[in-house]
Amino acid sequence: DALNEYLDLKGNIRVFCRIRPFLPLESFPFQKSIFDLDSSNVFMRIAETTCKKYNFDKVFSPSSTQEEVFSEIEPVIKSALDGYNVCIFAYGQTGTGKTYTMDGTLHNTGMVPRGIKSMFNQAEERNCEFIFKFSMLEIYMGNLKDLLAPAKKSNFQKPPSLLMKTDSDGDIDIENLVAIQVNNFDQVKKLYNIGTRLRSTGSTMANSTSSRSHCLIRVTLTSNGARERIREKNKLWLVDLGGSERLLKTQASGKRLEEGKAINLSLSALADVIDALQTKKAHVPFRNSKLTQVLRDSLGSDSKTLMLVHASPNENDLCETICTFGFAMRVR
Ligand code: ADP
Ligand code: MG
Repeated sequence: DALNEYLDLKGNIRVFCRIRPFLPLESFPFQKSIFDLDSSNVFMRIAETTCKKYNFDKVFSPSSTQEEVFSEIEPVIKSALDGYNVCIFAYGQTGTGKTYTMDGTLHNTGMVPRGIKSMFNQAEERNCEFIFKFSMLEIYMGNLKDLLAPAKKSNFQKPPSLLMKTDSDGDIDIENLVAIQVNNFDQVKKLYNIGTRLRSTGSTMANSTSSRSHCLIRVTLTSNGARERIREKNKLWLVDLGGSERLLKTQASGKRLEEGKAINLSLSALADVIDALQTKKAHVPFRNSKLTQVLRDSLGSDSKTLMLVHASPNENDLCETICTFGFAMRVR
């Protein structure tokens, strides 16, 4: 279809932008967004008469629904069944709607449940035999934590940090990461709920741990290679990144500061990797963070990457928003 053709023509990295609505606590009469939007541009008012324009592959306004966002993401997710490794990232300052986009709410489900449901449907439609396996992990301060491990072992010990390994085919893998075969969406939902609960509490609070960790969902697809493009094993990654906000030394200290540094380092390592891939540099610095090490074989030539950049319409967040768009323009 049209989007797939476009993706093939234009390379493998897309950057979409989503602006969240004002939240009830922020809303007061005549509150005005700092943005004007069209379907692919954000015009940001940085002063009374000055506007800065940012171009994206797609822009979603505060009134865009989860359905609308998903309809643009679905083709990318489906390409996992065509033999691509796929990475979808939610990027942005804490409180801009990353988790809303990825997980969604009970009545406004997000890209993760919609995407996985769509993969099952698609596999059935294509009459292809796929084996799907589901994993969920968190990267916190450079450590990999398996969010499904406690569900399997029923002891109360804290699961150890996982290590990376390279298997006999040269594929990067995470040692001992629980990967559970799932045959339908209900099974996924159960695991997803377990993993989400373990992830952390108070996900919308800027000071909660979840805002300073990356949450990664991995679906591996194995097929019997009936179709030409399909390789042995593909991966779909759905990643809710840690909050991109800068932590000033004066505002944060001790652990908080260390956590913030770890997130900022890994986000800039991600930008460096994507930039090196885009500009076809000979050296791609995957080794600079755990995040890029984990995703190493899913970023690059035979893969598709979608960056969903989130921003707040609030004037008070302007500085962070400028940084966020700076990141977006770097990876684009
Ligand atoms: P983040 O994960 O980036 O820290 P959240 O997803 O927790 O941000 O969003 C912060 C708050 O804003 C939540 O209360 C969420 O429900 C709300 N929100 C975010 N995006 C939207 C949206 N597009 N529509 C409605 N509410 C949203
Ligand atoms: Mg969140």
